[in-house]
Amino acid sequence: MVDFHKLFLNNEPILISGPCSAETREQVIQTAIQLQQINKIHLFRAGIWKPRTKPGMFEGVGSIGLKWLQEAKSETNIPVTVEVATPQHVEEAINHGIDCLWIGARTVANPFSVQAVAEALKGVGIPVMIKNPTNPDIELWSGAIERILNAGIKDIVLVHRGFTSYAQSELRNPPMWQLAIEIKRRFPQFPMLCDPSHIAGKRSLLQGIAQQSIDLNYNGLMIESHIDPENAWSDAAQQITPDKLAELLNNLCWRSGEVNPSLDYSDLAEMRARIDQKDDELILLLSERMKIADEIGKFKKNNNITILQTERWNQILERALQKCDALGLSRDFIRNYFESVHLESIFHQNNVMNKNDNQK
Ligand code: PEP
Ligand code: MN
Repeated sequence: MVDFHKLFLNNEPILISGPCSAETREQVIQTAIQLQQINKIHLFRAGIWKPRTKPGMFEGVGSIGLKWLQEAKSETNIPVTVEVATPQHVEEAINHGIDCLWIGARTVANPFSVQAVAEALKGVGIPVMIKNPTNPDIELWSGAIERILNAGIKDIVLVHRGFTSYAQSELRNPPMWQLAIEIKRRFPQFPMLCDPSHIAGKRSLLQGIAQQSIDLNYNGLMIESHIDPENAWSDAAQQITPDKLAELLNNLCWRSGEVNPSLDYSDLAEMRARIDQKDDELILLLSERMKIADEIGKFKKNNNITILQTERWNQILERALQKCDALGLSRDFIRNYFESVHLESIFHQNNVMNKNDNQK
């Protein structure tokens, strides 16, 4: 049985890999054998029941895959994990000696399904990994964790696989790191892994995302691997061979999240104080900016002008985006920042207008 807790307490990265989907007996066993040669992987993954966005896509090999996983385990001695979405999946996986279960993003987004899986887990001492839901809703993620905890499961691992977003991005599921960081703050007792495969959606971006998660003090990685990624039956663009995975892992720079008592941290404290100072200044500036929005709201009300002026909003955004590169700010960040500031300004103007209305 895989002891996540021990790895976590020892501050050792938890590493999970395997194909997106089990396809054939040969593919499962060969991938596991090649991963064993890396000598770093703690848990072998393969999806056998695949929740797919559209009908007609490959929906997994089903229960036969459990036998292949058993074989892969007896060949390599690496414990195995599958995704479960129904009580039936839980029962079958447990009957086949699967070592760990994971609940996928689409299932976590549905409290009925999570509750049904939780009921099936009662009285079963198995580690469970809980991915974030597809939609960027931390209460939904939190709720799923609570349901599994309430079922008596103590060994929980959180997996951050990014969120669907309407905004254009080169990533398949933008990470929205702050959401996972908030979950990490709420559940510090559980390891948080990053799944760069589903965040990136393409091989070339895996290394960077994996490194970013390590820099944020994540406790490990789940990365999809396949003996023939280009011809994978699902998620072909994001899978890598076990050899490439070894290369990726070797290129990572692991950092310490622990405070080393022999180092002098006064420089860090001084930099943090400067950050706090800047944050205070920013909050003050934002408050002043919103007061101007209030004045504009009054003006628009008096002159019967609508709050949202699309052209003006485009101007604001364009002006800001033009400055980004020279100032070392990413366009995505500035766009998100301005969208949020603009929304707040609209609320302010709206409030002013309604107040005037009521006073009439
Ligand atoms: C998967 O791990 O292959 C998978 C389906 O992931 P997610 O639930 O994160 O989409
Ligand atoms: Mn996948």
